[in-house]
Amino acid sequence: MSEPTTFSDSPQSAEIAVIGGGVIGMAIALRLARDGREVVVIEPNEAGSGASFGNAGTIADYGVLPVANPGVLRNLAALAFDRDSPLSVRLAALPGLTPWIARFLRNCLPARAEANAAALGELLHDATSLWLEFAAEIGASGHLHRNGGLYAYDTPQAMTAGAAEAAFRRRHGVELELLDGPQVAQMEPRLKPVAGAQFFPNAVNIDDPGEVMQKLATSLTEAGVLMVPRAVRRLERRGGRVHLLGDGLAIAVGTAVIAAGAHSRALSAQAGDPLPLDTERGYHIEYDMTEPLLRRVVCPVARGFYAVPMAGRLRFAGTVELGGLGLPPDPARHALLERGARAMFPHLGTPDRCWFGFRPSMPDSIPVIRRGRLGGDVILAFGHGHLGLALAPRTARMVARLVAEQLGSAARRGR
Ligand SMILES: Cc1cc2nc3c(=O)[nH]c(=O)nc-3n(C[C@H](O)[C@H](O)[C@H](O)COP(=O)(O)OP(=O)(O)OC[C@H]3O[C@@H](n4cnc5c(N)ncnc54)[C@H](O)[C@@H]3O)c2cc1C
Repeated sequence: MSEPTTFSDSPQSAEIAVIGGGVIGMAIALRLARDGREVVVIEPNEAGSGASFGNAGTIADYGVLPVANPGVLRNLAALAFDRDSPLSVRLAALPGLTPWIARFLRNCLPARAEANAAALGELLHDATSLWLEFAAEIGASGHLHRNGGLYAYDTPQAMTAGAAEAAFRRRHGVELELLDGPQVAQMEPRLKPVAGAQFFPNAVNIDDPGEVMQKLATSLTEAGVLMVPRAVRRLERRGGRVHLLGDGLAIAVGTAVIAAGAHSRALSAQAGDPLPLDTERGYHIEYDMTEPLLRRVVCPVARGFYAVPMAGRLRFAGTVELGGLGLPPDPARHALLERGARAMFPHLGTPDRCWFGFRPSMPDSIPVIRRGRLGGDVILAFGHGHLGLALAPRTARMVARLVAEQLGSAARRGR
């Protein structure tokens, strides 16, 4: 093993390194810096430009229903074969994905889904209040809107079928109201009529996730956090330090936090935690408009995406494509979103832009936020799936506590 080499824009040592500058890594770094720690963030791309940029912007405190749930098993045929299904699998990636899919299907069993929902409920219960506080801290309060969110159903049959999910959510502490078609029309007059909706009154949406990521990055710089523009390729423990290595990178730290989103699996395995992390690829399209067609986030449930009013545009974001990290985006998935957008607003034309990215997903929908199996000098913070934006401030607090415990026990050992 070689000794660290010096690189001009990368320090050789630090107290703590956060690997990955998405919303999770940046929220953690800011919390740690506010706690008085010396922190660097290692991020090869523009901070916040991954999944944290392209999401639907919802602080979905109601998101307790895991992606793997009994409804998936009930509707498997339609999900697999319907042209407009929100779920698709890229056959080229299937061999590598099979173990993840097998675990996912096991988590669809009712008892597992209930247990996973309870875990998500515990993580989500204060997501909104923590985000309001966090937004104030980074000067982004103006981007948060507390208008609630709608899960809309096209037909009375679909509304009735959705009752099981409403009951599931209520069982896990989610506040929701059932609305009929005219009530939805009153709230969203420009939406094509629907049969009814579940309304989540406490949901908050962020009107520009990209802009909020920039504010977060600026807050980090102001808090003295150094951004190191490198990718970590190897993680090694030796001499009581964690060594992070890559092209132009060799840094020894006391504590490393792995927060590289969907790209965390290899580093986690090197740290002694081989975990079944994969990705649910997601897509968005946007239409520029001065006045948004919606007042709040609307999810047409059968289509599996959100229509979100954003600053100067309407974004349609979501759907799930299982296809790993290597394949290019599938234009058919953007076309699917376009058809869905026009089903809601028939006059919409060609989108102004489109995007795709990688949700970091565990088969049970539960993020990994804990110390490494081989020691608390490596902390794992990834796998937030569909809820990473919502759970960032909560994750940051949990990691700050783990770091404090780790440094406390290291200090006691040193006495
Ligand atoms: C279409 C879509 C809609 C979504 N909607 C919502 C929503 O409404 N609400 C919600 O809460 N969540 C939503 N999500 C999920 C949410 O966006 C993610 O869970 C969250 O952004 C994950 O954040 P992250 O920081 O873990 O990952 P990322 O934002 O992907 O950041 C990971 C970072 O790690 C860096 N990195 C990778 N490899 C390395 C390496 N080797 N060394 C150093 N750095 C590395 C990457 O460059 C990247 O910047 C949505 C996701 C998608 C795709």
